Amino acid sequence: MTAQDDERYRVLKRTHQQLHRDWKRKKAPCIVCAQCEGKDRDHLPPKVILPAAIRTQDTEFFTFPVCKQCNNSSSDEDFLFSVLLSLRLKQESILQNREPTDPDLLALDRQMQMHLQDSEKGSHRADLLRPFMGTDPRTGRDAIDLDHLPVSQTLTKIVKSIYWLHTGGDILQRHRPGWWIRTDIDTSKEHFIAKHLKTTHADLNWGDRFIARYTVGHPDNGVGGMISSSLHFYTRRNIGEGMSWLVIGSPSLISVDGRSLYEMSRAIWGSPTIEP
Ligand SMILES: [Zn+2]
Repeated sequence: MTAQDDERYRVLKRTHQQLHRDWKRKKAPCIVCAQCEGKDRDHLPPKVILPAAIRTQDTEFFTFPVCKQCNNSSSDEDFLFSVLLSLRLKQESILQNREPTDPDLLALDRQMQMHLQDSEKGSHRADLLRPFMGTDPRTGRDAIDLDHLPVSQTLTKIVKSIYWLHTGGDILQRHRPGWWIRTDIDTSKEHFIAKHLKTTHADLNWGDRFIARYTVGHPDNGVGGMISSSLHFYTRRNIGEGMSWLVIGSPSLISVDGRSLYEMSRAIWGSPTIEP
């Protein structure tokens, strides 16, 4: 982490403490639905992507207010998101028919197994996965259709929490669900994310583990009204071995010079995995 990142992180930390105090005092609304009172708290980064086994003493979480209903309603998707993360990260091992040896991947794997074996919710979770199980046409092996796992609710929550934090408590509520998501971004080029998110004015950084960026562009720099979050999950890998999601909020509803943000993004990054 650079000195500049360090300073940014300290500023965010202070903002978060202030937001936390206000939230207790004023009965803040849920940042997801913006309607009910946010009596529960959720975490950023989501605990589902940082299982206890791979947290270090330096891992810090920000918390944000959510209502009980929003908190409960995303738990199924949170599970599917952890499946997506775990399988995408070990894709290389799967293709080469090797067992992964990376301790972080093994921790994610174990977490997924535990979720499936849970006496209370295990069978429900297996049911969630079943419609996405099939045979990979390229390898002929059993596979999960990762491109179609529904995870937009979980991603929406992540984006909203990042937005809330970086705007000092503003709630992103104008959009309808529907996110343009691009996974498996080529991270082999150094500073890939920085290069493509030129207007980024804030980021969260936990050492080499998790980066979330939040971007709002302005019409003068040609990226008007863009809200994007990029989650970068490295575990203990080098650049080029990690994984990114680029999540862009409601791109079809936002247009710049008569062109939708979706079209613009597509021109820059190519085909999305999940369309709005
Ligand atoms: Zn809510």
